[in-house]
Amino acid sequence: MDIITQVLNFGAGPAKLPPSVLLEAQKELIDYKGLGISVLEMSHRSSDFTKILNTAEVFMRELLNIPDNYKVLFLQGGGSGQFSAVPLNLIGLKEAKSADYIITGAWSAKAAKEAEKYGKVKLVYPKLASYTEIPDPSSWNLDPEASYVYYCANETVHGVEFQDIPDVNGAVLVCDMSSNFLSRPVDISKFGLIFAGAQKNIGCAGVTVVIVREDLMGFALKECPTILDYKIQAGNGSLYNTPPCFSIYITGLVLEWIKNNGGAKCMEKLSIMKSEMIYNIIDESSGLFVCPVEKKSRSRMNIPFRIGSITGDGALEREFLAKAAALGMMSLKGHRSVGGIRASLYNAVTVDDVEKLADFMRHFKETHQS
Ligand code: PMP
Repeated sequence: MDIITQVLNFGAGPAKLPPSVLLEAQKELIDYKGLGISVLEMSHRSSDFTKILNTAEVFMRELLNIPDNYKVLFLQGGGSGQFSAVPLNLIGLKEAKSADYIITGAWSAKAAKEAEKYGKVKLVYPKLASYTEIPDPSSWNLDPEASYVYYCANETVHGVEFQDIPDVNGAVLVCDMSSNFLSRPVDISKFGLIFAGAQKNIGCAGVTVVIVREDLMGFALKECPTILDYKIQAGNGSLYNTPPCFSIYITGLVLEWIKNNGGAKCMEKLSIMKSEMIYNIIDESSGLFVCPVEKKSRSRMNIPFRIGSITGDGALEREFLAKAAALGMMSLKGHRSVGGIRASLYNAVTVDDVEKLADFMRHFKETHQS
């Protein structure tokens, strides 16, 4: 197993998978459970694939305690596909065809822009000058006529994460949980809909999980493409069209791994431990490492920081990345739109991996502050 883990992958997604999952997939790649064929070659309507799909759903329901009045869908199109699917399915819930968006970073901003194509989009507070905080809910302006309220639980690029589910006065709450899904327990009953691309915490690219309350289905706009219509996908058990079979199989293996490792509660405990390790070094670095995000909105999953100053010293950051790469630590470069450094600490990234990064950061600080 060590062969696979020699490199430390701090990528933002697609991201590290548990080595045991990769080994299992490797073992089963050519001959899945003695069938003589691969999951890659299997009909999505075969009884064997049905078992794979059902098992993934059972693990998901168990891990998140999903109430019976919610459907679990496994769809294609990624998080970005859901930026369209959400308004296409839900903006027509009320006559005003309007939705409230809470924008805390690049991904919620993109979602709002996409929704504008299908209805009215209202921002619950004016556009922020920088994505480094979550404005206090007392300043939010929620529209009672909105069909739903949308937010992104964890902004992968800017490292801003909600620590609690926002209180939206009983409105239908829609959440993009792509980058912190199953990294903590969550009360599904508080949501109308949750979606999450798998490629960060629960698998590889290709499948997007949608958890949707049943009574919200059946309101799709007439121009909604059939494959994006939740009611049709739910009515067909996610098999209206060919699903991303292999990605679903991998997600099933990762969900089983999460279950065997203590479930969402344990993932949360570890993610608190891992993120505190890095934030502590940042905060105790006398300004060498600078995280722009206000403390109470800091992400446990994606830690963006600059080196040398709040705008970053290019030479120092290049040196940091080069030295990290020489130690086998990859994908620490910040998103191209913000620069700097970003360490992503998803479920499969171990405490040991993070300790190595922490040691390296401490050493970097010592050699640059004498
Ligand atoms: N939402 C969030 C929070 C993301 O991090 C991403 C991708 N990094 C997306 C949506 C878009 O996902 P995709 O690339 O699968 O469309």
